Amino acid sequence: MFCEIVRGREASWRIYEDNEIIAFLDKYPISYGHALIAPKEHYENVIETPPNLVSRAFIVARALGKAAIKGLGASGFRIVTNTGSSAGQIIFHFHVHIIPRYSYGDPGPIEPRSEITEEKAREIVESYKKALEDREIKRMIAGEA
Ligand SMILES: [Zn+2]
Repeated sequence: MFCEIVRGREASWRIYEDNEIIAFLDKYPISYGHALIAPKEHYENVIETPPNLVSRAFIVARALGKAAIKGLGASGFRIVTNTGSSAGQIIFHFHVHIIPRYSYGDPGPIEPRSEITEEKAREIVESYKKALEDREIKRMIAGEA
C-alpha cells in the first residue's frame, strides 16, 4: 500500500519527500495535520528497518512536529510507531505517525477518524509546505539542528 504511494500508483497528500523518505497525510486523521512518515524502501516495521532510516524517519517526524506548531497552530504533538497487530499496526510498511495536538484532547478543526476532505487536505498540505520553507525547519530535516 505505501509502496504504491511511493511509486505514485496510489494517490496521497504529500507534504515532504526526499531520496529516502516520504511524508503524507493520514487519510483518516485523528487530529488536524496527522501525517505519516515512511522510508521509500519496504521494511515491515521499526525492528526490520535499517537504523539510518529509522533515524531519518524520526528526524523528519520531529521537524514536521515543529512545522505543525509553526504552521498549523498546534501546541504539541505525538510521535508514534505501531509494531505488530497487537499494537495496532495495520499497514506492514514501517511508518511513524506525527499527531499534532491543540489544547489537551483537542483534535483541531476536523472530524477525527473520518476520511479527510479534499478541502481540509489541501489546506493542511499548504500550511505544512509553507512551514517547511522555514530555515530552522529545513535544518532540522537535514539533520543539522
Ligand atoms: Zn511497502
